[in-house]
Amino acid sequence: MEQELSQIKHEALTAIKAAENLTVLNEQRVKYLGKKGSLTAILRGMGKLAPEDRPRVGQLVNNVRIELESLLEERVKTLKKEEMVHRLANEKIDVTLPGRKQHLGHLHPLTLTLNKIKNIFKSMGYSIAEGPQIETDYFNFEALNLPKDHPARDMQDSFYITNDILMRTQTSPVQARTMQAHDPNSPIRIIAPGRVYRRDDYDATHSPMFTQVEGLCIDKNIRLSDLKGTLTSAMQQLFSDDLQLRFRPSFFPFTEPSAEVDMTCVMCHGKGCRVCKGTGWLEILGAGMVHPHVLQMSGYDPKKVSGFAFGMGVERIAMLSYGIEDLRLFFDNDLRFLKQF
Ligand SMILES: [Zn+2]
Repeated sequence: MEQELSQIKHEALTAIKAAENLTVLNEQRVKYLGKKGSLTAILRGMGKLAPEDRPRVGQLVNNVRIELESLLEERVKTLKKEEMVHRLANEKIDVTLPGRKQHLGHLHPLTLTLNKIKNIFKSMGYSIAEGPQIETDYFNFEALNLPKDHPARDMQDSFYITNDILMRTQTSPVQARTMQAHDPNSPIRIIAPGRVYRRDDYDATHSPMFTQVEGLCIDKNIRLSDLKGTLTSAMQQLFSDDLQLRFRPSFFPFTEPSAEVDMTCVMCHGKGCRVCKGTGWLEILGAGMVHPHVLQMSGYDPKKVSGFAFGMGVERIAMLSYGIEDLRLFFDNDLRFLKQF
């Protein structure tokens, strides 16, 4: 019996040490120390022993049981610890992973150009005025001295929504709205930037939708020389200091006198090139002194105040600034183009 006990002890110690997880360890506990375990079986078999041997063998069995139990306890602790370490390693979140890159966009070249124009006029004391893109016939034409059947309306055929409502063909209605909302005794200095619409082709130099900036200045003693000085300064700030302007007589219904304004060609500095068709000049603006009738219609007294107005196409200025030859590039949304700005 003593030999059997030592055999069981040896087997049990080896098995407990080898158990690789808590489940296996528990199986071993049952196998040796459980109700039907081998150690318990020995205790039960003690009845067959001589009475004088029983205390000694009983002591031996008990010692083995204590030894196994303490080893089991130790193994449980070790395995629990290992399991924890393993779980921590598996469930680890690596917070140092690189984040997903956000691609930041930037302003469109037309917006960049428009911002430049706005800043130049703001520095000269102008404020920004805006108006609706869907406009009434009255503000788009009549208040600007273009009554129904005026032949100049043909130049601006537009998209009509009803007989009296249309997509505005120019930002001039903002001027009319500003004048009518304004106290006729106080001066006006505004620029009106925005989208305008005309029935037109869509090619390298035309688009049925484009961006305009118009300006209006009304005050006492405003003269043509003020208009020329203002526009020269603005264009010089936009393009180059040595640039000059030239005024050619023209016709607009809401200004008198009216002028087409040319500037020194920014490509050849006036020497003559392909862009300016050899003339050294580029047509860049329309301008003039506000027609007395337009002032009167908005409640101003043409004997007391005078003013000038001008308008320019933002696409044309952006094309000249950046050397772009096809207007459609602004609206195609091709990233290869847009990323260059
Ligand atoms: Zn040129």
